[in-house]
Amino acid sequence: MELTGVSDYLADAVLVFAYGQGRAVLDANVARVISRYFGLREHTEARRDKRVRKLADDLVDQDRPRDYNFAILDLAASVCTPLNPKHDGCPLRRTCAVSLKSRHESLVKRTKSVDGHLDHSTRAPSHVRTAT
Ligand code: SF4
Repeated sequence: MELTGVSDYLADAVLVFAYGQGRAVLDANVARVISRYFGLREHTEARRDKRVRKLADDLVDQDRPRDYNFAILDLAASVCTPLNPKHDGCPLRRTCAVSLKSRHESLVKRTKSVDGHLDHSTRAPSHVRTAT
């Protein structure tokens, strides 16, 4: 089913919440969570980014699209907020690129301060980009 004459966001919301279709309801907040989780550059138009759209659709639980979309919308509004995201209380923190990068940098700082040099055994996982 397709809806014409309305925004993509509204069409997705109706198709998911009214008809149970397995697609993502992708607004700026959900795009922020996905960008952070996968270590993509955050920008104001991320919800129109084709990579973000594909990732968002791939993540949807096809058996429970309503629950999935409610959950990620809620996470975006209450945990992965634009400012001061609550990484420590986030259920995604163990695999999120932003959280892994932050923990890696903190570990490197602690290692440097203890030994006075960088311990190269504390490398970030290969999919996480680190500052140089
Ligand atoms: S760990 Fe932090 S950046 Fe990653 S999804 Fe959770 S709140 Fe957002």
